[in-house]
Amino acid sequence: LSVIESVEPRIAAATRAELSDQRASLKLIASENYASPAVLLTMGTWLSDKYAEGTIGHRFYAGCQNVDTVETVAAEHARELFGAEYAYAQPHSGIDANLVAFWAILAHRIEQPALAEYGVKGINDLSEEDWETLRQRFGNQRALGMSLDAGGHLTHGFRPNISGKMFHQRSYGTDPETQLLDYDAVRRAAQEFKPLILIAGYSAYPRRINFAKMREIADEVGATLMVDMAHFAGLVAGKVFTGDEDPVPHAHVVTTTTHKSLRGPRGGLVLATKEYAGSVDRGCPMVLGGPLSHVMAAKAVALAEARRPEFQTYAQNVADNAKSLAEGFLTRGARLVTGGTDNHIVLLDVSGFGLTGRQAESALLDAGIVTNRNSVPNDPNGAWYTSGIRFGTPALTTRGFGAAEFDRIAELVVDVLKQTTPTATAAGAPGKAKYSLADGVADATKAASAEL
Ligand code: PLP
Repeated sequence: LSVIESVEPRIAAATRAELSDQRASLKLIASENYASPAVLLTMGTWLSDKYAEGTIGHRFYAGCQNVDTVETVAAEHARELFGAEYAYAQPHSGIDANLVAFWAILAHRIEQPALAEYGVKGINDLSEEDWETLRQRFGNQRALGMSLDAGGHLTHGFRPNISGKMFHQRSYGTDPETQLLDYDAVRRAAQEFKPLILIAGYSAYPRRINFAKMREIADEVGATLMVDMAHFAGLVAGKVFTGDEDPVPHAHVVTTTTHKSLRGPRGGLVLATKEYAGSVDRGCPMVLGGPLSHVMAAKAVALAEARRPEFQTYAQNVADNAKSLAEGFLTRGARLVTGGTDNHIVLLDVSGFGLTGRQAESALLDAGIVTNRNSVPNDPNGAWYTSGIRFGTPALTTRGFGAAEFDRIAELVVDVLKQTTPTATAAGAPGKAKYSLADGVADATKAASAEL
């Protein structure tokens, strides 16, 4: 950091402060982790300086032989680790991976048959009139994904997101009683809506998905099954999710981030069957800018780590620890969305404490417990204030926490929330943001977590 300090001391200071903040708090954000020193070091190299638009062996710049090696190794590890027919290591993030997947599905399902129909080789060979018709066909496609408040991601067709504008979209939710995914309801929605793409995957659903069933539904309506495993890729890599719960053998296209439970650098990956490979491979430059070669190198290192037997132990511990955390909440009378967990996420409904998610998130942060607020199904407080807090076990499992520590965390969280009260706004009504934490709770909680 002294090198950075000599150029921009504020950046060196913020970097140091981030380290001490991460050390001094309990990181329970479900999408975060601690990447290994090997992964972090791999990102800080001169590979960053190289432009390499295009794909392996087919670049728009000269001198890409080393980037070709990097991308080849990253893709090879991804294919081997996940048992995928094809892997694309370039996406800069999870959202970029989803955009590449959407584009590739449109290219494979709409563009290529249209070119064959018009009898031309490429899109530039179309007449203005045919191009206009094709453009309209692109804009008329449908996507069906899990709703945001049931745990889906905003790129799964949420209206304000580009995915909601690219596609006519509809969403499926969860059963109002059990809060579990209702496959019959998904089937009914798919049969009625006839989507081009059926999207499965989540950011805040604390349960596993049966991807064999999702594929069956997709096949019934002629949809492409796209699974976004950004959150649970580590559990797939670590063989905790196998058989019907492993998306790779069932989906046509699978997207993921590399930095959540997979414990790599910030970035994305796309896996696909052979039939979609050619379209995905054109992600750059059709959707993405030049690849971040240093990050692809770090993805290769992280994927190599995930292929080691220790990673399977880690992934199993992530899932076991989530169960301990959930159990810890339930035995202390707290309410969980779906009543528990069988992945790495625990979604606590904080309305029982008389708090909004925003108030609970802030009070927990004061006490050194870093989480994020999250909607619960049919949330009366909307997506900003929310009624839930999402917890995840990947990061603290990396730090070596086990069942006893996660039970203690449940105790600390419940203690903090019980001693937090909403405060009235200036108008006198209870607000959704302001809160007050009883004296001494923050310091006592920080001291207790330092012992963990
Ligand atoms: N997909 C899912 C399911 C996610 O949970 C997230 C991140 O929260 C993303 C995609 C987006 O990932 P990124 O922030 O890397 O673009």
